[in-house]
Amino acid sequence: MDSRTQPLGVDWIHGSPSAKHNTDPDIQVHAYDGDTYILRQNMAVDYEAPFLFLLFGEDRALLLDTGATASAAFFPLRRVVDELIEARLRADPASARRGCPLLVLHTHAHGDHVAGDAQFADRPDTTVVGADLPTAWAYFGFDADAERIAEVDLGGRVVQCLATPGHHAAAVTFYDRSTGLLFTGDTVYPGRLYVEDWPAFGRTVDRLIAFAAAHPVSHVLGCHIEMTREPGVDYPILTSYQPDEPPLEMTVGQLHDLRRAIEEVGDRTGRHAFADFVICREENG
Ligand SMILES: [Zn+2]
Repeated sequence: MDSRTQPLGVDWIHGSPSAKHNTDPDIQVHAYDGDTYILRQNMAVDYEAPFLFLLFGEDRALLLDTGATASAAFFPLRRVVDELIEARLRADPASARRGCPLLVLHTHAHGDHVAGDAQFADRPDTTVVGADLPTAWAYFGFDADAERIAEVDLGGRVVQCLATPGHHAAAVTFYDRSTGLLFTGDTVYPGRLYVEDWPAFGRTVDRLIAFAAAHPVSHVLGCHIEMTREPGVDYPILTSYQPDEPPLEMTVGQLHDLRRAIEEVGDRTGRHAFADFVICREENG
C-alpha cells in the first residue's frame, strides 16, 4: 500500500460519559507530518467537535476553519496555533528570519467552523478571509468563475480550492498537492450530510469525483465524525460521547458510494442512511 493511503492511525478525543468530568485537552493536535496538523475540538466544549487543519509552507501557514466556540478560555485556538507556529520558527532558523504570516480560510460559513475567527482579529501578520459568500467568493475569484480552481501558494506548497456548494452556498473544498489530502468540510464526512441545495450537491460530488480522477488523493478529510462503526448508524445529534467512532479519513471509493447514494435518494427529501454516511436533504433543497 502506498504510504500516502495508509490509515491516519490516530485515536481522536471523542468525549466522555460525563462532560463535566472530561479530561481531554481543549484541542487535540495530531501531526500528520512535520508541515501538516489536524486539530480536533473537545467534544465536551461543543458536541460538534469539528476538525481544523493547519498547513505550513515555506512562506506562510494556512489555517482551515476556526472551530465552534468563540471563547479563547474554553477553546484556545489562537494559543495552540501560536505555539505550533513558534515551534516551527524555533526549529527552522531560515523561516525564523522570514517570519510566518498566517492565512485563515474556511470550508464554509456555518457557526461551528468560524466561531474562533475573532481570536485572530488582532493577531499580527494575519489575514482572516471572511467565510460569507461575497467575501470568500471574491477572494477565490469564484464570483467571476465558479468553475475555476483557485490556488493558494504557501511557498513551495500549493493548495487548490474548488467552489463546492450543496451543504452550504459558500462551501469550499481544498486540495493539498503535497500530501494529496482533500479537505471536504461538511460536504463529505462520516456523518450526517445536510444538503440545502440538492442539485448543487450532486454537481459538487460529480466534480469531486472528476477532480480525484485527475489528482492523487491520499485521504478525504471532512470536518466531523458522527457515524458509529456500525454501518448506517449515527450518534444522535448533541451526543458528547462517541466511543465507537469510525476513522475521520474517507476514500475516493466512498465519494463514488456517495454518488450512488444520491441517485438512490432521487427526489426524496429527509433522512437517508447509508453505510458510511447519512444524507439529510432539507425540505426545499
Ligand atoms: Zn460543521
